Amino acid sequence: MLETRPLLLATDFPKVKRAPLDTLQVNLGYLCNLSCTHCHVDAGPKRTELMDLATVEIVLEFLCQRQVETLDLTGGSPEMNSNFKYLVGQARALGINVMDRCNPTILGEPGYEDVAEFLADQQVIVIASMPCYQEQNVDKQRGKGVFRDSIAGLRRLNSFGYGQPDSSLKLNLVYNPDDPSLPPSQSELLQDYKRELFSKHDVVFNDLFALANMPISRFGARLLAKNQFVDYMTLLRDSFVENNLATVMCRNLMSVDYQGYVYDCDFNQMLALPMMAAGKPRPHLRDVMDMDLEGCEIAVGEHCYGCTAGQGSSCGGALS
Ligand code: SF4
Ligand code: SF4
Repeated sequence: MLETRPLLLATDFPKVKRAPLDTLQVNLGYLCNLSCTHCHVDAGPKRTELMDLATVEIVLEFLCQRQVETLDLTGGSPEMNSNFKYLVGQARALGINVMDRCNPTILGEPGYEDVAEFLADQQVIVIASMPCYQEQNVDKQRGKGVFRDSIAGLRRLNSFGYGQPDSSLKLNLVYNPDDPSLPPSQSELLQDYKRELFSKHDVVFNDLFALANMPISRFGARLLAKNQFVDYMTLLRDSFVENNLATVMCRNLMSVDYQGYVYDCDFNQMLALPMMAAGKPRPHLRDVMDMDLEGCEIAVGEHCYGCTAGQGSSCGGALS
């Protein structure tokens, strides 16, 4: 696969420093039942990298010691890690908010039929990827039949109370473009999603996060293969909005890979761009267990323009 990493390391992106840590984002591994064309972690059914129980225990030790508000679980499909339920249950027992970045097709896969009910029992916030409300666009990006299975997964979540009016169970959807363009207005897209998914599929949800694609991993390789990398980077750079620097997700979040190594964000994780904070070439969660990270410089690259372009992009959607 073509690699954009060497093209992203030299940058004039402004310096960014860490604010207080409020979210630990943990990648439970690269195993996924899908292999989407835009996937920034190159996840898929043949990946074998998964966080083991010993590393899960280090994550829980970190959560115990630090006042982290939110545990944000990602993958791959995080539910495919056999330690998923244990980690969620222990974190919830500590009073920590847990978010599951879920591809909703997993909820109907054999062996995972009980996951939706488990998430509801544990009051987990579900962030479900749904790159469009139109079948042909979703199937083009994620594979044939994925739209139908995603709708089934969302309806399953709805049946346990997710996204329903007066329910505390939050279901937020994630949109990303299929082509090398910036996402449209998040607030306008939200109205379209709500109308289309309810009127045609009886699906309800709370909020929509519109994310820009990062020029890395599978999407980056596609840009290089189609000779679109330079144009996409020019678009991201030309759309730079300085105000977004104050709210980029790396200021309050730390990303942990399946082996327990730490990064300023999930994208840096995929680029093997470690945190500079601990003064080690490749710091591990153990190395930052007691460390105050506030004020530490964040490792940036050209891909960071993907977070600050236009309305901005973060794991919580648009920034402005
Ligand atoms: S984008 Fe999400 S659902 Fe698609 S392959 Fe990657 S991790 Fe799996
Ligand atoms: S890519 Fe990561 S390090 Fe760069 S601005 Fe975005 S969140 Fe921060």
